[in-house]
Amino acid sequence: MKNLVNKRILITGGAGFLGSHLCEKLLAEGHEVVCVDNFYTGRKSNIKHLMSNPYFEIVRHDVCFPLYIEVDEIYNLACPASPVHYQFDPVQTTKTSVHGAINMLGLAKRIKAKILQASTSEVYGDPSVHPQTESYWGNVNPIGFRSCYDEGKRCAETLFFDYHRQHKLRIKVARIFNTYGPRMHPNDGRVVSNFIMQALGNEDITVYGDGRQTRSFCYVDDLIDGLVKLMSTPDDFTGPVNIGNPVESTIVEIAEKIISLTGSSSKIVHRPLPSDDPMQRNPDITLAKNSLGWEPKVNLEQGLRSTIEYFRQLL
Ligand code: NAD
Ligand code: UDP
Repeated sequence: MKNLVNKRILITGGAGFLGSHLCEKLLAEGHEVVCVDNFYTGRKSNIKHLMSNPYFEIVRHDVCFPLYIEVDEIYNLACPASPVHYQFDPVQTTKTSVHGAINMLGLAKRIKAKILQASTSEVYGDPSVHPQTESYWGNVNPIGFRSCYDEGKRCAETLFFDYHRQHKLRIKVARIFNTYGPRMHPNDGRVVSNFIMQALGNEDITVYGDGRQTRSFCYVDDLIDGLVKLMSTPDDFTGPVNIGNPVESTIVEIAEKIISLTGSSSKIVHRPLPSDDPMQRNPDITLAKNSLGWEPKVNLEQGLRSTIEYFRQLL
């Protein structure tokens, strides 16, 4: 018999890369999961293995429109995350972040649900403070190619905090740093998926710019663990809280590591750096350690090995 203390949980963007892992984890913990997705970048294949579970439901829905459903908790992940995907239809990207947040916050208010926002390190823009702490307000271009995503996510954070102050909503805001792992879209243009696909095909590895820009890569299992821990913190803890792996690498180092782990004959080639590409990114995770008792466990080599294995099988 199902444990009566378990919850019904809505995950928007549940068919995406992170969302599908979150659906899997919450089902494994014995909760009922409702996955809401319009399949803009998500895929049924990400959640196919969950469909036979009677506690799993899929609703095809665009979060830009209101949704009426009864749940205890909401994880709001709906939004394309790769620069290639979110710049494809930038107006829609902002609508998804802003209208999506308004609709999900409105739903949470009506049904008194707790709600978590998947925010991003992009709220820091091209940061002048390094590593980034949650108290840093960021350095974001409001009119550039990345702005639809960055400013959409910043506005969503504003809405979360205003609903919290004005309507006493129970909110949690996670600032997610670059995350990678199985079920990334092979053509999403993000660095880890691009480099692995190129390496497995023995094609040139396309490093944008001189490759000295940095990122800090978190394995998906660690990230999901952080989101679930954040949701279960006491109501007076809202975040925003950085969730990411603080081990920083240059993009060239990532390329070299992937070539070595795949045993590829690929060569590194350089391509122009996209505009507003942040030069450095590294989370200060002191708050996550102290407030969630969370820190990442999977190192880059272990994480890349399992991601490479996923893409190998896909091919
Ligand atoms: P993803 O593109 O794989 O997943 C996004 C999901 O949202 C997809 O399933 C897509 O179909 C769905 N979606 C998009 N627009 C929608 C709409 N209007 N209505 C309903 N569903 C919609 O991306 P991801 O990497 O899984 O990212 C998930 C969330 O985490 C996003 O909000 C993203 O901004 C955030 N995030 C991710 C990263 C990362 O490194 N993966 C970093 C920072 C923040
Ligand atoms: N990048 C690269 N080659 C690629 C894809 C990305 O050099 O084929 C670089 C990109 O310019 C950025 C970093 O890798 O500096 C991370 O890019 P990604 O799109 O994964 O995420 P971002 O952190 O920029 O949102």
